[in-house]
Amino acid sequence: MMKVIFLGPPGCGKGTYASRICEKNDWVHISTGDLLRSAREDSEHGETIKKYQDTGGLVPDEIVLAVLKKRLERPDAEKGFILDGFPRTIPQADALESMSKIEKVINLRIPDHVIVEKILARRTCEECGNIYNIADIKFGPNDEYRMPPISPETEGKCDKCGGSLVSRSDENREIIENRLNVYREQTEPLIKHYRDKGILKDVDVTGPPAIMVPKILGVIGED
Ligand code: ADP
Ligand code: ZN
Repeated sequence: MMKVIFLGPPGCGKGTYASRICEKNDWVHISTGDLLRSAREDSEHGETIKKYQDTGGLVPDEIVLAVLKKRLERPDAEKGFILDGFPRTIPQADALESMSKIEKVINLRIPDHVIVEKILARRTCEECGNIYNIADIKFGPNDEYRMPPISPETEGKCDKCGGSLVSRSDENREIIENRLNVYREQTEPLIKHYRDKGILKDVDVTGPPAIMVPKILGVIGED
C-alpha cells in the first residue's frame, strides 16, 4: 500500500511510468487528465472541461476535485495509487490533504526542449489511452541520455486494444508552450511545498521507461 504523487512538467513521461509501475504493484494509476477527458462525455461540465483542456489551461478546481474524489472513493484505490497530474496548484494540494494522506512525491526533472519534442511526437490510443512515441530523442550534457521511440507493433494501431493512435488536440507547439507556462507558474511551487514537508524525492529523466521504471521504483522504496 503506497500513496504517491508524480510531479513533473507535461511530457516528462509521468503517465507512462505511472501506468507501468501500477501494473507491477497492483496500485491504481489515477490521471486527472484522463479522468477529465472521460468526464467530458457524461458530465454536465463536459463543455467546460473541453474548453480548458483544448487550450492547455487548468480546469476549475470544483470540477477536478469532484472527479478525483469520486475516483479515490472506489475500493481499488485502497490498495495504493499514483496520482498523475494532480495536484497542479497549492490549493489543490491543500484540498488533497483532507482526502488522503500522501506518503511520497516523486519530482521528475527533464530539460524543456526535450519536453516539446517529446509531446509533439506523442501518440495516444483513442480507445484505451495507452501512450506511444514516434521520436528518437538524445539529450544530456554529451547527448548520453536517449529516449528511443515507443512504437506499436503495427503502425498507427494500439498493441493493447487495436484502437487508432492519434495526437491529442492539445498537442501542438503553441498549446504545449502554454501548458509549460502554466506548469511553471502554478505547479512548480508544489516542489518547495512538498520538499518542505520532507516527502519529496527528485528523479532525473535520463532514458526510456525500461530505465526509468526501475529507477523510480527504487526511489519509491527508499525511506
Ligand atoms: P500532461 O500529462 O501532458 O500534462 P494531462 O493529461 O495530465 O496532460 O492534462 C491535460 C489537461 O487536463 C491539462 O492541460 C488540464 O487542462 C487538464 N487537467 C489535468 N489535471 C488537472 C488538474 N489537476 N487541474 C486542472 N486541470 C487539469
Ligand atoms: Zn488501446
